[in-house]
Amino acid sequence: MALYVQKYGGSSVADAECMRRVAQRVFDTQKAGNQVVVVVSAMGDTTDDLIALAKQVNPEPDEREMDSLMATGEMASSAILTMALHSLGAKAISMTGQQAGIQVDGTHLKAKIEKINPSRIRQHLKQGYIVVVAGFQGMNPDADVATLGRGGSDTTAVALAAVLKADRCQILKDVDGVFTANPRVVPTARKLDEIAYEEMLELASCGAEVLQSRAVEFAKNYNVVLEVMSSFEVKPGTLVREENKQMEQMIIRGIAADKNQAKVTLLSVPDTPGVAAKIFKALGNAKVNVDMIVQNVSAAGVTDISFTVAKDDLNKTKRVVEPLVRDIRATGANFSDDLAKVSLVGVGMKSHSGVAFKMFDVLAANKINIEMISTSEIKLSVVILAKDTDRAVRALHEAFGMGVRARQAKAAPKKKTARR
Ligand code: ASP
Ligand code: MG
Repeated sequence: MALYVQKYGGSSVADAECMRRVAQRVFDTQKAGNQVVVVVSAMGDTTDDLIALAKQVNPEPDEREMDSLMATGEMASSAILTMALHSLGAKAISMTGQQAGIQVDGTHLKAKIEKINPSRIRQHLKQGYIVVVAGFQGMNPDADVATLGRGGSDTTAVALAAVLKADRCQILKDVDGVFTANPRVVPTARKLDEIAYEEMLELASCGAEVLQSRAVEFAKNYNVVLEVMSSFEVKPGTLVREENKQMEQMIIRGIAADKNQAKVTLLSVPDTPGVAAKIFKALGNAKVNVDMIVQNVSAAGVTDISFTVAKDDLNKTKRVVEPLVRDIRATGANFSDDLAKVSLVGVGMKSHSGVAFKMFDVLAANKINIEMISTSEIKLSVVILAKDTDRAVRALHEAFGMGVRARQAKAAPKKKTARR
């Protein structure tokens, strides 16, 4: 008997009809001779609606209370899906994160899973139940509920798959799998059969909203193979797994765009040891996640330092940076939030050169200005104006021959498939 962990995202459980359909799929999986643990997200846009509601009564709601509020979305989902399963005649039970034994650290809104005690889940599985777990949450050391960050139900699913040593971990979505680019922006985007953890990690952290980054990290660390697939149709999706040689043949696996970017520039910062440490220590203490950092060549003993943060963190960043400017004797700071980051990702970059040139060339040809650049072994990112994002992504996708048509056109005359 195989153990399946199936995670259904918000749009797959958006209303009663969706719930009934998901219940049928879950029940079919069990009837095929498997044990099933289901992890659900909140129904549809519930989480966004709850956040909006909170902000109507308090523009800066307390984080503990936000967690109490947001966790209810997934709890409701799990109970409703369980009821739908019951109406099909299935044996099923819902569990909150806490009941499922998920222990998290003390950070509200971005809690990390520390430990899972799966004994209750195991016991119910043994008794023939389908166990429906509320995603996105756990219990912190104060016995309060804390959530795992937006998209956190993915992490719940992967973590459960890891501790339960599940045979399959399926992430079921309203898309067919992981694509070369967002199909809503790039009509020729192609579904990938497989992708390496590192690539998925880079894409996720660069704004591809397919999987939560932390879920991919977890999967990588515990070697859980993820199947990202459609919740509407039964057909193969994309496997997220360990890198293999074949994967390197395709230079760029995917393009991601993140419009949630803000840039901060500290002007005329004294170029002396310890200044950068001071700046980034203060940001770290305020739990601001800094992404790219660029320090200019210094002239006359001063230099400009720019960095990017998530747009949502900009107010918090301003509160840290403004007093800091006086403290380190910089002349001022600029903030801009009309930016986006576009990233090319692929393990093939390790063994192919010229990717940077080609990327910059394509952007230049499209008259798109580059504000910042950063690279890793398998990623190349640029910060550009947000208004140019879609145009940049489409042009790059085309230029690197990643699309459906491009691939067929190229593969045909040569009689061999260059990449898979
Ligand atoms: N409902 C939460 C969110 O929208 C968690 C999740 O969907 O995974 O971010
Ligand atoms: Mg959601």
